[in-house]
Amino acid sequence: MAALFSTRPFSGRLLSLMVALLGLTCPAFSASADQDGGNNMQFPWDKMRLPRHVIPVHYDLLIHPNLTTLTFSGSAKIEITVTQQTSSVILHSKRLHITKAAIEAGGARSVQEVQVLEHQPFEQVALLAAEPLHPGHSYTVSISYSANLSESFHGFYKSTYRTQNGELRVLASTQFEPTAARMAFPCFDEPAFKARFSIKIRREPKHLALSNMPIVKTVNITSWLVEDHFDTSVKMSTYLVAFIVSDFKSVSKITSHGIKISVYTVPDKINQAVYALDAAVKLLDFYEDYFSIPYPLPKQDLAAIPDFQSGAMENWGLTTYRESALLYDPEKSSASSKLWTTMIIAHELAHQWFGNLVTMEWWNDLWLNEGFAKFMEFVSVSITHPELRVEDYFLGKCLDAMEVDALNSSHPVSTPVEDPAQILEMFDDVSYEKGSCILNMLRDYMTADVFKAGLVQYLQKYSYQNTKNEDLWNSMTNICPTVDTDENELQGDNFCRRNQLSSSSAHWTKRETLDVRAMMNTWTLQKGFPLVTVTVRGKNVHLQQEHYMKGVDSPSSTEYLWHIPLTYITSKSDTVQRFLMTTKTDVLILPEEVEWIKFNVGMNGYYIVHYEDDGWDHLISLLKENHTVISSNDRASLINNVFQLVRIRKLSISKAFDLTLYLKHETHIMPVFQGMNELIPIYKLMERRDMDDTANQLKEYIVNLFKDLIDKQSWNDEGSVSERMLKHSLLLFACVRGYQPCVDKAQEYFMKWQKSNGTLSLPTDVKTAVYAIGAQTSEGWDFLFSKYRLHSFNLEKHKIELALSLSRNNDKLQ
Ligand SMILES: [Zn+2]
Repeated sequence: MAALFSTRPFSGRLLSLMVALLGLTCPAFSASADQDGGNNMQFPWDKMRLPRHVIPVHYDLLIHPNLTTLTFSGSAKIEITVTQQTSSVILHSKRLHITKAAIEAGGARSVQEVQVLEHQPFEQVALLAAEPLHPGHSYTVSISYSANLSESFHGFYKSTYRTQNGELRVLASTQFEPTAARMAFPCFDEPAFKARFSIKIRREPKHLALSNMPIVKTVNITSWLVEDHFDTSVKMSTYLVAFIVSDFKSVSKITSHGIKISVYTVPDKINQAVYALDAAVKLLDFYEDYFSIPYPLPKQDLAAIPDFQSGAMENWGLTTYRESALLYDPEKSSASSKLWTTMIIAHELAHQWFGNLVTMEWWNDLWLNEGFAKFMEFVSVSITHPELRVEDYFLGKCLDAMEVDALNSSHPVSTPVEDPAQILEMFDDVSYEKGSCILNMLRDYMTADVFKAGLVQYLQKYSYQNTKNEDLWNSMTNICPTVDTDENELQGDNFCRRNQLSSSSAHWTKRETLDVRAMMNTWTLQKGFPLVTVTVRGKNVHLQQEHYMKGVDSPSSTEYLWHIPLTYITSKSDTVQRFLMTTKTDVLILPEEVEWIKFNVGMNGYYIVHYEDDGWDHLISLLKENHTVISSNDRASLINNVFQLVRIRKLSISKAFDLTLYLKHETHIMPVFQGMNELIPIYKLMERRDMDDTANQLKEYIVNLFKDLIDKQSWNDEGSVSERMLKHSLLLFACVRGYQPCVDKAQEYFMKWQKSNGTLSLPTDVKTAVYAIGAQTSEGWDFLFSKYRLHSFNLEKHKIELALSLSRNNDKLQ
């Protein structure tokens, strides 16, 4: 017997079940639940994680939701194998009322007494068998149960929506990640317990049911009840199981690889599903080619759920989304929502490989799923939708991640977690954004081709399995970085030979093996990121690294050390030079003296840089004289870094303002956004502290920097997505801050719109600015509020909501 007996008192309720097993040919269970508390047996397991010696192989699930009573009943038959003799089967169950349970020995006729114990704090149940289960044998656990549909946004939950005629309709959908599959069926609810699933759903004929796999047949149970049988799934984790019962409508297309893609939504919004359908077709085709691994299911459904907590969920074959993440109305949606929709679909489809096919062993490595999916959004969309210029926004993600990662409260990308609350905390910017940024840094370091070869090797090797951090690094280690790429270097088996002719630009080629694991461990196992201080003395460049931390006065801990793949360009050479810094301090020797040096080219590295002595002055002169000598990402990164250094008092704020003066000539979206991101919060801070004079001066300063660009904006929806997003931000800023030409124009538009009783169609990208100005008068505010209450279109509602909140009238705000 392997089960452990705890000395800790358990508060779980005891169900004592007598089960008579009548044999395989007649699987009738005569169990009856006796819930009187019975004898006080102790729960035979005292750990949060399940024991490893009972392994699920296949689940047969029958789920029957009742959308009128908002309850559901179910039965789960789970085929298990046992690797060690035991008298108990421990599995997860949360808020399920178990009415019957049995363990059936495969092939043998046996009568078992099965007792069910529940331990609520750990969301576990134990099935206690009278006769021990033997290693090497397989058994089938059968459990019948009922439950209420969840009122939250996880588990098997109720969602509602109103039709255009105002009728309230109910549907039921699932969200299991990370630990809510146990709320829909008893299961081994940990990502490493992969199994196959055969699902049957009962529904009324007026509804339709969806699940991970396509329907293979539908059986009429009664005239008012049908049962859909879904095909057996591939081997997968419980958190990826999904089913929906609804009255949705769909549109479909077939990809060039023959996969059927469908987008499902409430019937009234079906005409907003077309954009997502086309995007999904392109993206799934892209991933099949990129990963060189076919998508293993015959279909992929994308469903927009009216009530949804996160952005979307990657359930295998049935991805689910909040409506605003999937539906796109070409007439009403803004440029940024097109970008968001495309990226979120790219994210969920990338998970079909990263996450679904190859899954993290445990939630501490959630970043393996999320960092990769986030990273792949940019890789895929930049190719499938080049017009969106998605690569412009990657830098912004990294800067956002650094914002939280610079705090003492941050955590390493890979962090130990155990209980469901800790697991939920992993779904943050560090796992998603930082994860993707350090992968991008690694790709820049190894080159795109070598990085991709490593990824493909990793996905092929671990298909249908689970992995840890080091499995990824090991897959990358046998592939060398290819500075001076030689075709012969990449052998058929993806192993490469050392390049004997190591160039001065590739310091790491001096080493026999590139230790990806040692390098990446410094980025995944420590929180935060380094600040690299650069001091130029003639041809010598002195480098020093330290932990960058905000809001901490004492010098940061000295234990922190990163392996930093440094890159730089100089006034003498725009060829990217590389240097792997693995020590606290180091020295680089340049071939000749230079006027300026810029580290972290394109800000592909996850670190910030300080230039000692007159290093910043030279860069500021460069920006003022000829800013396009360096890339827009380099410009944006200098703006970011200079303000980061002000925050830790390495630089004066006047130095940072001096740098921003060049923005008068800036037109590119990233540096402009970065300039606004740094300057506007300082302005708001002063405004809130009633430092009116200084606040006004600063406002003048900011408006002046961007005035030329604001004046150039056309009040329509023309231009690329970047141009439209820039227009949206600039005009909103200008109008809210009272820049008169903007206010006049917005007032004119608002009056026309109000006169038409809101029927006039305003250009979507200037709408928020127009509403914001309209909301400044009492009458305008009331008119907007009346429209807000009428609207069913989510994005429109959000815009009005923002404008209403910008009123300066306290009564209105109240
Ligand atoms: Zn994700």
